[in-house]
Amino acid sequence: MLTGLLDFVAKNVDSDCSKWLLTGTSGNPLTNQPFESIAEVADLLYGQNMIGYAVVFGSDPKAVNNASTGSGVGGFAIVFNLRGSTFERGAPRSSGDTFNRQITNINPGSQRAGLFTMIHELAHFLNVPGFRSDANSRSAGNLNNDDVWKNCQKTIGAGKNR
Ligand SMILES: [Zn+2]
Repeated sequence: MLTGLLDFVAKNVDSDCSKWLLTGTSGNPLTNQPFESIAEVADLLYGQNMIGYAVVFGSDPKAVNNASTGSGVGGFAIVFNLRGSTFERGAPRSSGDTFNRQITNINPGSQRAGLFTMIHELAHFLNVPGFRSDANSRSAGNLNNDDVWKNCQKTIGAGKNR
């Protein structure tokens, strides 16, 4: 599942999305060089077992986190929540600010929802300038989601909304 999503992003990422993600300041820790492509990022995440999933419980039972980056859970850099919208059709919809209508249109459990979350977490992982820390802030999360949509809607839209 996660392999398929990351592969999809690596192979189908559009140039606007790729350029935006690669403005990130995190380099490849294996080469100490900036990342040159999203495929290289995917290779690192797979090759070093840095991406995984878990059932993640938050302090607010009504809020479901779709994924987190840098939480340290399971030793992974990126952890997807099995209860979030990448896996569950019944999970809450993601929201945005300016692009709330477009973002809430993404169906939980769809390929699109998985792509949306994957790109959001890649933006955290890569340290894209201006991407906010949103672990405890819905409004920061919504603004981040806007950035993901604004820059990567073509890649996300290439996935199935079911
Ligand atoms: Zn986030």
